[in-house]
Amino acid sequence: MSETLTKLPALVPEPVELPGHLAQLRAEVREFLAAERAAGKWTPGADVWLSGWDAEFSKRLGARGWLGMTIPTEYGGQGRTALDRYVVTEELLAAGAPVAAHWVADRQIGPSLMRFGTEEQRRKFLPGIARGEIYFGIGMSEPDSGSDLASVRTRADRVDGGWEMTGTKVWTSGAHHAHAFFALVRTSPKDENNRHAGLSQFLVELDRPGITIRPIPLLTGAHHFNEVVFDHVFIPDEMVFGELSSGWAQVTGELAFERSGPERFLSTFPLLASLVGELGKASDVDAGTRREIGALVSRLWTLRRMSLAVAGALESGEAPELAAALVKDLGTRYENEIVDASRLLVDIPPDPGAEPGFARLLAEAVQHAPGFTLRGGTNEVLRGIVARGMGLR
Ligand SMILES: Cc1cc2nc3c(=O)[nH]c(=O)nc-3n(C[C@H](O)[C@H](O)[C@H](O)COP(=O)(O)OP(=O)(O)OC[C@H]3O[C@@H](n4cnc5c(N)ncnc54)[C@H](O)[C@@H]3O)c2cc1C
Repeated sequence: MSETLTKLPALVPEPVELPGHLAQLRAEVREFLAAERAAGKWTPGADVWLSGWDAEFSKRLGARGWLGMTIPTEYGGQGRTALDRYVVTEELLAAGAPVAAHWVADRQIGPSLMRFGTEEQRRKFLPGIARGEIYFGIGMSEPDSGSDLASVRTRADRVDGGWEMTGTKVWTSGAHHAHAFFALVRTSPKDENNRHAGLSQFLVELDRPGITIRPIPLLTGAHHFNEVVFDHVFIPDEMVFGELSSGWAQVTGELAFERSGPERFLSTFPLLASLVGELGKASDVDAGTRREIGALVSRLWTLRRMSLAVAGALESGEAPELAAALVKDLGTRYENEIVDASRLLVDIPPDPGAEPGFARLLAEAVQHAPGFTLRGGTNEVLRGIVARGMGLR
């Protein structure tokens, strides 16, 4: 037990206070969002970072300097800190703004290109990412490889000037709109004694010959997911990402960015805000309801402190994988609890066809909630990572 206790700091990075000057940035973002809403440019949604695809909105953010914020200026970014970006993203998510188009590119492709990309790759993609004009997807999961990602079967064989890739990726969010994605691919045969070796990452432009993108409709009919099939697709050497055979280490490094941000506890925040608004219309709110809302708000505050601490650790070059896994486990369960509370505390049924407001937000949240604890690695798998890191398994 005492050995486990010594590992606790890995779960709780040093707390981070946002520098005072960021209050000005936050005020600017809020003012911009209020003006956009007043002009009727979009209506707040739930789970907008996955479903709120609006390329024009992304370009407006890019024009303000609110995308690619941590990318150095010589590549078209703003050269600001991860905490500056944190303030902008949490305001966008809290407002329910349509951020899906640029989300993956801004969150993890930009930082990964700065870490592992070649000069040519950076010059090709980073300026467009910062302008909100180039969108990326994530090509990891396959029909038989989700949690057990090391078992991916998409493979690439060496050919003159590059690689020839064949296989199928699945559950690829937004691939039908995206310009490119990162694919995790087997580039040398599997070694059962070292399953993580022989995997590499490619930057795949999705308009290459031999690529077929098929929709996997949601139960609602909405098109969000795709199956992406590669039939002998040529990938030039210039699009190998990072080191050959280092794909596993690179992917797991990216996951710390992917798992710990404010999107892991704010997907249903607009619903919570709307719930409070609905409750406020009643002449009297009973003590149990008030306690429940108070508990939800205080947990939100705690999750934010944890997520900010991970952002601070990432900013100082650490790899806080355990803490990031914990934020995602606790945060995504919390997002679901907001949906449950909304169903129980007011008598307004979900209605996807309703005017913007509580009933519509609730419908969107109910439809998306099953995915919260799955995407980016399931909670069961995350708990396994935490337990291993704590020396418990
Ligand atoms: C909304 C959404 C968006 C997504 N977007 C993308 C995307 O853009 N790109 C992409 O590549 N993928 C994407 N995914 C796929 C996602 O990453 C996988 O669904 C996830 O990793 C789980 O894999 P799986 O579906 O194959 O389930 P499986 O791995 O088959 O898991 C099935 C069940 O078994 C449990 N399980 C599996 N292994 C273990 C274990 N070792 N210990 C305990 N329990 C275990 C899991 O927790 C789960 O409950 C998305 C998924 C969702 C829901």
